[in-house]
Amino acid sequence: MKLQAVRGFKDWLPEEAIKYQYLIEIARKELKLAGFQEIKIPVLEKTELFVRSIGEVTDIVQKETYTFEDRNKELLTLRPEATAGICRMVIEHGLYMRPKPLKIFFIGPMFRHERPQKGRLREFFQIDVEFMGNLTPYYEVELIELALKILKKPLKNQREPFTLEINSLGCPNCRPAFRDYLLYALEKEKEKLCETCKERLSRNPLRILDCKKEQCKEVVKGLKPISEFWCEDCKNHFEKIIELFKIRNLSFSINSYLVRGLDYYVRTIFEIKGEGLGAQDTVCAGGRYDFLIKELGGPDLPATGFAIGLERWALCLFGEKDIPEALLEELKPQCLLIPLGKEAKIKGLKIISTLRDKGIKISALFEDRSLKAMLREADKLGASLVLILGDEELKENKIVLKDMKKGTQEKISIDEIEFYLLENLL
Ligand code: ATP
Ligand code: MG
Repeated sequence: MKLQAVRGFKDWLPEEAIKYQYLIEIARKELKLAGFQEIKIPVLEKTELFVRSIGEVTDIVQKETYTFEDRNKELLTLRPEATAGICRMVIEHGLYMRPKPLKIFFIGPMFRHERPQKGRLREFFQIDVEFMGNLTPYYEVELIELALKILKKPLKNQREPFTLEINSLGCPNCRPAFRDYLLYALEKEKEKLCETCKERLSRNPLRILDCKKEQCKEVVKGLKPISEFWCEDCKNHFEKIIELFKIRNLSFSINSYLVRGLDYYVRTIFEIKGEGLGAQDTVCAGGRYDFLIKELGGPDLPATGFAIGLERWALCLFGEKDIPEALLEELKPQCLLIPLGKEAKIKGLKIISTLRDKGIKISALFEDRSLKAMLREADKLGASLVLILGDEELKENKIVLKDMKKGTQEKISIDEIEFYLLENLL
């Protein structure tokens, strides 16, 4: 039997890993600049956490989670998203008692049993950012601006492939009226909906607004937007956000049919879409979840957050195969030592250790092949400088340096390698 990775679970080859690490480092740097602190939550949580937070009737909990009983018959779920786990952590460890706002982020894999396709995996990475505290619209706008800033950072301003869409889902005062209206209006059109949406009608009618199927989009077009149902407070709040967006010169569009797949959102929600991604074009999504922490047994702590899908972000920036040349450079050894003979190999171990201490990137070939064969290997590995240490050089305390690009070589004293390399490489 041929062994293969599980469907929808991706290996990262070195070329891919370097691309994702590059993006993660950019995000991490921006988040730290903005005062966010990195945390780690477990991959597994009790199933109950997700049922209570994301909502029993959501697509995620009903169809997408990896849920199983462990050896002690405890029902566990691989996290499909990070917000629930972070809220649990904040409650369990009393983080809510720390000075506020609490600003935290987490980067790691999420698991959802969805149909794998372009931009949709079963294991995917999210950069998840959460903000908890006295949530004024300024904070919300700051956070959305930060999400855009992170996404655009690797582009160095050449392109604008990202577009921001926002909406408000109202609050517990006004949303029930909208839900009732949806049930009433959609019941009449039920026959026109796709099979999934027919099912959604009774349990999660808001999600129908988000259906990608043409037949459902047609039905949705005929509905009243949620904005007609907002209470005074929700309306004012949304207007304030829009005003601040304009002041900040952020381009955005209001999408009255934007909803989120999770139950816990209230008021402002947003999505950032990316070009060239096809049907799965949301790179970043987020919004407010003012009541979730309380519902999970914590204090009254309004919150908002967003999650960037790492693979979709990369796909949007670099396309399917395209890995920036500068990143690939990182995979090559700068210097490669070829020690010939036993004595030289022993000395070689010391040389590479010393040079690495000085911050020089160096690998070695400790093999008994011919120099010619090893030079060919060095070339294939992409080394720019090769250090050759033979018996003769060893006696003179010297080493041969070969510049692989120019094809030139010279002999220098072993004690000077460090200075020579620092001068020529850094
Ligand atoms: P979608 O509408 O694409 O299913 P969602 O509403 O389920 O997204 P969220 O739970 O808000 O997504 O997750 C935030 C981000 O995580 C998405 O915008 C996307 O970039 C990424 N994401 C979600 N599901 C997947 C997946 N199955 N594969 C890859 N990335 C994903
Ligand atoms: Mg989804």
